[in-house]
Amino acid sequence: MNLIEEPYAVIKARMLRACEHAPLRTGEPPALIAVSKGQPQARIEAALRLGLRHFGENRVREAIGRWQTHRAAYPDLRLHLIGPLQSNKAAQAVALFDTIHSLDREKIARVISDETARQNRKIACFVQVNTGEEPQKAGIAPADAPDFIAFCRDELSLPVIGLMGIPPADEPPGPHFALLYQLAREQGLTELSMGMSNDFEQAIRFGATCIRVGTALFGQREA
Ligand SMILES: *Cc1c(COP(=O)(O)O)cnc(C)c1O
Repeated sequence: MNLIEEPYAVIKARMLRACEHAPLRTGEPPALIAVSKGQPQARIEAALRLGLRHFGENRVREAIGRWQTHRAAYPDLRLHLIGPLQSNKAAQAVALFDTIHSLDREKIARVISDETARQNRKIACFVQVNTGEEPQKAGIAPADAPDFIAFCRDELSLPVIGLMGIPPADEPPGPHFALLYQLAREQGLTELSMGMSNDFEQAIRFGATCIRVGTALFGQREA
């Protein structure tokens, strides 16, 4: 019996249903990023056996311990850094991850740009937008996003492919997803990383192209 077969089937069905009622959506169905932070190895291996290949982690060190060894066995593995990045971890992050969802300030953008050049890596980037303008939350303020995106693309030549956001916990997420969608359109960005266990269907209705799901897939985290 595969540990996560049933929750995975449920999530896939819910994603499909959400896609059917999603006027803003075009193109491929959204990608499911399985958020493996804090999850026991047995559940992650169960996910790999079911064919999941996109995994999200929020800490560089934890991700290295877990994924470096799987890299060789799964050439189609795609690792996503979804948590804040410190500059002193940037070299390791660029070496391990395929996509960074948390680009949100000039300093870290410069370091990522330097490291990708030095390591000859190509890392897809999402700019994280703090749509609720919450002081404790990472992300650039919506008003500053256009200049920051232009800086990343034009001055640093970073491959910015989309926007990422996490709505405030105590507000309906819809308006925040709508704001991200609008900002992305204005900036000519096609990818939207939004939606978690509790709100991924709404995110899909607002045009999410990848959703980041942890507990609904794996169960409660251990750490
Ligand atoms: C932990 C985390 C998730 C997954 O959250 P769940 O509620 O477990 O689905 C998604 N995105 C980010 C940025 C996270 O840190």
